[in-house]
Amino acid sequence: MRTAVISHPFCRKHKMIEDHPECPARLDVITDRLLASGVDIAITHLQAPKASRDDFLLAHDEPLVSHVEQTIPDEGLAELDGDTWLCPDSMKAIERAVGAGLLAVDEILADKLDAAFCSVRPPGHHANRSTSAGFCVFNNLAIAVKYAQSKGVKRIAILDFDVHHGNGTQDIFLDDDNVLFCSLFQHPFYPNTAVENNATLVNSPLPIASDGNDLKAVYLEQWLPKLNEFKPELLFISAGFDAHLEDDMASLKFVEDDYAWLTTQLAEFCQQQDCKGIISYLEGGYALSALGRSAVAHIKALVDAP
Ligand SMILES: [Zn+2]
Repeated sequence: MRTAVISHPFCRKHKMIEDHPECPARLDVITDRLLASGVDIAITHLQAPKASRDDFLLAHDEPLVSHVEQTIPDEGLAELDGDTWLCPDSMKAIERAVGAGLLAVDEILADKLDAAFCSVRPPGHHANRSTSAGFCVFNNLAIAVKYAQSKGVKRIAILDFDVHHGNGTQDIFLDDDNVLFCSLFQHPFYPNTAVENNATLVNSPLPIASDGNDLKAVYLEQWLPKLNEFKPELLFISAGFDAHLEDDMASLKFVEDDYAWLTTQLAEFCQQQDCKGIISYLEGGYALSALGRSAVAHIKALVDAP
């Protein structure tokens, strides 16, 4: 697949408290691994454009946007919620994190790309319409989905394989029959927000120590039948790599091959169902070496897909 990695140096500028796991080095390990793996030469590198306030408002209420703007400090750090801090340069990072997905939508709809990985931070899937939470400020992916809808894309599927439930994304699209949301997550675990499944919501809780076989079962038994029925025109992925065996943020046991397997399945689905493309957003992943290896396994599977 014609694949791009979309990022921006400003995404490194968002800094939280000392030793916070959601740190700038997360992006460096992905870049380093891409270079070392040789996958780098097979992908297009694009700089994320700057998103606007109007873009934020596609998925968020005005009071949240104002609150974030007003909370950004002139110096030092400001606490946004119990887990998330803002620094003077955070808005520069947020604008590019959101902008990456908008560019990905434009490039795929113009048939210039088949897939894009948005290697950006801060992450987004815990942010809902009115609240930031869990290291997330705005829901980057949800904004890109809304943007794609504004460009005429009718049916969109979002697959979330971060170890945490994608509660913000669930909330934003709960009443939207044109968006299918599938999320797997360790359960019980933060943020404990899964609601009952419906026609366009598939929550797939997994007990502690679930591994790649459980991931495969979730995809083949729960997600794939739903995807076949729903027939999305565009696929989004909330790609968190914190379910990795080496990531002590949680207690699942996925490895690089599992991420590659799922990505290959999704690429095959896309091709068979005549879906326009795949837009994948970095969410969690805090064990730096495992994050680099897993993200590259994911990107390589996109590149290698026919
Ligand atoms: Zn996570």
